[in-house]
Amino acid sequence: MTIRNTVIIGSGPAGWTAALYSARATLKPLIFEGSAPNLPGGQLMITSEVENFPGFPKGVMGPELMNLFKEQAIRFGTEARTENIVSLDLSKRPFELVSETGDKILSQTVILAMGANAKLLGIPLEKELMARGAGVSACATCDGAFYKNLDVAVIGGGDTAFEEAQFLTRFAKSVTLIHRRSDFRASKIMIQRAQENPKISFELEEEVLEILTANNQLSGVRLKHKTLSIQGLFVAIGHQPNSDLVKSQLTLNSVGYVKTLNQSAKTEIDGVFACGDLQDAVYRQAITAAGSGCQAAIDCERFLESQGH
Ligand code: NDP
Repeated sequence: MTIRNTVIIGSGPAGWTAALYSARATLKPLIFEGSAPNLPGGQLMITSEVENFPGFPKGVMGPELMNLFKEQAIRFGTEARTENIVSLDLSKRPFELVSETGDKILSQTVILAMGANAKLLGIPLEKELMARGAGVSACATCDGAFYKNLDVAVIGGGDTAFEEAQFLTRFAKSVTLIHRRSDFRASKIMIQRAQENPKISFELEEEVLEILTANNQLSGVRLKHKTLSIQGLFVAIGHQPNSDLVKSQLTLNSVGYVKTLNQSAKTEIDGVFACGDLQDAVYRQAITAAGSGCQAAIDCERFLESQGH
């Protein structure tokens, strides 16, 4: 059976950048893009306009950007399969991977780039409006600038919700933080800053029961006790890294992110690398994910070289 140099799992900015760099290093990478319920291309496939990816001064649509990532990696010889990896044995090298069609693949190295998903409320219209950029978002850094002088709300009571609320006050006319309890998880300093910000108000012990629309755009939310009229809703209730495949084989932090070593993409298993949102709970941007995909490919190439491949 052929032993591959490297297999990449996941096809967001991290996965495709790892593919591009390892293909240009003549490693002939094989990338598993994923298939339903995973989304080939990752979180940018459910984003509309991306204005903060360098090199696109006029902005670019999320799915278009991911197609460009893919095209560039394929141009240099990346082999892509639109399938999930269903099992992965990291106990010995070459590592053994099994795809959803039952194919076994052996590889000297594996680059993990399965990403993370923003947790959503799971109520009607949430995903649809998010995909159309029509008033619902899970990323204030990405979409905040679209809400200049508008009324917006953030859902959540953790650090992310407070950080997003603070950030949104740069653009929005008002920011309402909606939280299901009256105590917050966020750090004291973040809470204090928000309380002192005249643009931020709070709706506590409240839940969003219904998303309201007018002209196919968000127009408000119905809460348990009242209705709010808003044009932007930012869901900030945490992220879930897609680390199930490796959870019994690699050390994860307390919330499930893969641990990498000393600011590299190396994991505690030689030949296994992790990049993108799978190992980054802090920055979670397309550009930082792409950067870490590049690190993973370079670490991988150097590892293979050290092994005489
Ligand atoms: P957290 O898990 O800390 O907080 C999630 C929040 O969302 C909680 O308040 C939770 O409510 C609420 N929530 C969860 N599910 C639902 C739901 N279905 N409906 C309504 N509300 C819900 O996630 P964060 O993303 O805020 O933070 C993750 C980690 O990243 C933390 O360790 C945090 O400290 C860190 N972080 C640090 C930052 C910094 O230091 N600058 C910035 C951002 C994040 P409840 O409290 O009731 O459970």
